[in-house]
Amino acid sequence: MAKIPEPPETVTVKEKVVSCDGGEGPLGHPNVYLNMGTGSRVECPYCDALYVLDGVTGKKAK
Ligand SMILES: [Zn+2]
Repeated sequence: MAKIPEPPETVTVKEKVVSCDGGEGPLGHPNVYLNMGTGSRVECPYCDALYVLDGVTGKKAK
């Protein structure tokens, strides 16, 4: 069975613009701002952390 690799970290946030510096350790990187735009999630291009807007869990609401 092939496993889909998951992002190393999922962070729930309440605003569409988040800042990420990767935290401490090997994933640390310069502080950047990530804008979700019209979506409800954004992935940090540096550390692959996934930021999800609060209340949106990735399930598709109908
Ligand atoms: Zn990051």
